[in-house]
Amino acid sequence: MEILKHVMDDVIKRNPNEPEFHQAVKEVLLSLEIVAEKHPEWVKDKIFDKIVEPERQIIFRVPWVDDNGEEHINRGFRIQFNSAIGPYKGGLRFHPSVNLGIVKFLGFEQIFKNSLTGLPIGGGKGGSDFNPKSKSNSEIKRFCQSFMLELNKYIGANTDVPAGDIGVGSREIGYLYGMFKKIRNESTGVLTGKGLTLGGSLVRTEATGYGLCYFMNEALKAKGKSFDGATVIISGSGNVAIYANQKATQLGAKVVAMSDSNGYIYDANGINLNTIRKIKEVERKRIHEYTKYHPNASYTEGCDGIWKLKCDIALPCATQNEIDENSAKTLIANGCYAVGEGANMPSTIEAVDLFIKNKVIFGPAKAANAGGVATSALEMSQNSMRYSWTFEEVDTKLQNIMKNIYIKCSNAANEYGFEDNLVAGANIAGFTKVAEAMYSLGF
Ligand code: GLU
Repeated sequence: MEILKHVMDDVIKRNPNEPEFHQAVKEVLLSLEIVAEKHPEWVKDKIFDKIVEPERQIIFRVPWVDDNGEEHINRGFRIQFNSAIGPYKGGLRFHPSVNLGIVKFLGFEQIFKNSLTGLPIGGGKGGSDFNPKSKSNSEIKRFCQSFMLELNKYIGANTDVPAGDIGVGSREIGYLYGMFKKIRNESTGVLTGKGLTLGGSLVRTEATGYGLCYFMNEALKAKGKSFDGATVIISGSGNVAIYANQKATQLGAKVVAMSDSNGYIYDANGINLNTIRKIKEVERKRIHEYTKYHPNASYTEGCDGIWKLKCDIALPCATQNEIDENSAKTLIANGCYAVGEGANMPSTIEAVDLFIKNKVIFGPAKAANAGGVATSALEMSQNSMRYSWTFEEVDTKLQNIMKNIYIKCSNAANEYGFEDNLVAGANIAGFTKVAEAMYSLGF
């Protein structure tokens, strides 16, 4: 980095103690030096310096009362990062690890991901350090209501449209939307990922996992490979992981391992997805329960071990930085030839470098997992029209969007001399659209 070195230095100086945000910015800037060379007008207009600074950062107090009558205080965030191409759009994450740096890294990634979808959505993200694990339904409801009591001041169907992320699914979106309606007396597409009776879109639940497989299918096809007959490992067992498993299996793969934040299960016969859904979606329990139903399967404590298993294709769908350099080395040594990121930034910069150097077919998160937010944008369109498309209609649109994202990334990589490097391709293609818009708007 030469032209853009000062941008990275300033980010580190102005945002201390936010390593995930630094990492997300660094990964993007590493691909953009050549773009800066080709566009001196963007350098002069300080587009690169502006894009790393959120347009607006909102931090608020979220008090709530537990079932025993005790008061608790959590911190709420909404980062309105970039609105150049459309209303801020991005999920809410409820997890104890959430802090300003985490929300900023997610919001920054979201700018480029949303741009790649080809739909008019800007980048934003939010959440709270609230831990939804082992909370009762009433506690979750009260927390969501308190969160929305403050958040409602800053969002709107044409301003900022939140959705789910880790710890926020359709139940939480329902409670958040319910509170929004009570406060504002409006039925609008202000949140996406809504249940079907609330104006949600068909396929939104499946979209991130399905989209990941549609994207990887294109990337694999380009190299003469496919899911058919492949052995697949999927980390996580949340919404993304479950539907990635379903689609990979439909495409002929065998998924042999999945995990949660405590450990992983291995089932040589292929994971039984109905059991996973029962444990995770209905009972909301831990993944080790799986071995009760399938005694031939094994459970191992700890998460890193999953990457030591032999596979053809790895789909990290849990959380950030779950694949480090060592795990990447082991995957490559064991013959893994493709990695598709379902989670946001699940591979460290060192791991990504190794995958690219070793010619692993690598689908970076901001391209490969864009199907979720793309289908959210389709939900917004349907809400605006007061209309709903069929499952097949939305699924066909999603398939086309994922195919186009692959083409955009691959073309940008080739045009800028990065060959098969879809990381650089995604960063460049995602960035250039937003940069052009920022330049035209005088942002
Ligand atoms: N949280 C998801 C993501 O990381 C979805 C966001 C949305 O649908 O707005 O892209």
